[in-house]
Amino acid sequence: MSDFRGRSAAVPTKRLYFDDPYQVEFEAKVVQREAHDSQPALVLDQTCFYPESGGQPSDKGTINGVKVIDVLEEGERIIHLLEEDITEQEIKGKIDWPTRFDYMQQHSGQHLLSQSFYELLEGETLSFHLGDESSTVEIGIREIHEEDLEKVEKRANEIVFQDREIKVYFVPEAKIKDIPLRKPPQKKGMIRVVEVAGFDYSACGGTHCRRTGEIGTVKILRSERIRNNLRFDFLCGHRALKDYRLKDRILRQLAAQFTVSEQEVFSSVEKVVSDSKSQKKKLRKMQQKIALYEAQEIISKAKEQIIRDILVDKTLEEAKFLALSIIRSGELVVLYALKKEERGYLILAASENLNLDLRELVPLLSPLIKGKGGGSPSLVEMAGEEAENLEQALDKAYEFVKQKLKA
Ligand SMILES: [Zn+2]
Repeated sequence: MSDFRGRSAAVPTKRLYFDDPYQVEFEAKVVQREAHDSQPALVLDQTCFYPESGGQPSDKGTINGVKVIDVLEEGERIIHLLEEDITEQEIKGKIDWPTRFDYMQQHSGQHLLSQSFYELLEGETLSFHLGDESSTVEIGIREIHEEDLEKVEKRANEIVFQDREIKVYFVPEAKIKDIPLRKPPQKKGMIRVVEVAGFDYSACGGTHCRRTGEIGTVKILRSERIRNNLRFDFLCGHRALKDYRLKDRILRQLAAQFTVSEQEVFSSVEKVVSDSKSQKKKLRKMQQKIALYEAQEIISKAKEQIIRDILVDKTLEEAKFLALSIIRSGELVVLYALKKEERGYLILAASENLNLDLRELVPLLSPLIKGKGGGSPSLVEMAGEEAENLEQALDKAYEFVKQKLKA
């Protein structure tokens, strides 16, 4: 928390971005100089830096060449956290314009979307968050159809194409009822109204574009349920263009890969997915057939009732199927071990007629493979992080089963 001294001297910081969000450089006097979480911090008499509030992140930039790492609002004061201390009394500040303009595009676009949701679906905006990648609005509606979503998006973009003026003015609290605000104001006293000419009226302290045309394309990406409402991800301006470029490139690459037109990409992908599913099914059936032959061969070569091996070129599924094929062909026990990516696996199977309970092996073998497992009396699967002692584990299992079979 802050440990500002001399709070009694708290002087409101003049917010230069209120009058001109396009102002990038400014001069100011240091009013207070303190530490904030052991970070040097300054309060100035005036600033272009927007402090984090109302869902909009703070501006980036420098003060006398030193990086501003965060900007906070404390009552009427704005606190600038610096990367390192500066000693000058008079400073020159500079905000990072590309970031500011990006925020202006996203934030102004939010006003358009919020009013479009309200106008078309009576959906009220419950919260707004301007993120690094995309931004979100939470709207008080339970569901939305695709065509309604498109109508909202279209309405917001119509207002962009009409290039309406975005006006900012202050109205005393007593007169605010004359303004058709979308939402009641949270602040008292003089209320800052942001009006998208004749379309949207909001009480807002953020930074906005001069005209809607500067916002650029407004694109909703997706929606998700949150509490009983819907939250929409959206992009405006440069961000929407960047996203379009990315998706366009992916689509073109896919079309080239499949040697089809962009319109045919989706059906091509669908076909590949369904072909791959049926191939996998076929392959599985063939593997199972092969396993049956393999099982017969293993049984014919087996010198005793207990068959044990460390399998090198089988998947776990193949090994399991092979073990089951063997124990179903006679009164046999199979002890298989596998090493996969430095992990050890055991597959232990016994014909049901033998009345063994292989689960008794789990506590005996667990320490050797540093793992665990379980299953039924006639089939136990184990997995562990240790693959060094698989031979030893098989020895132990072998001795155990041999004793049991003798009994
Ligand atoms: Zn705003």
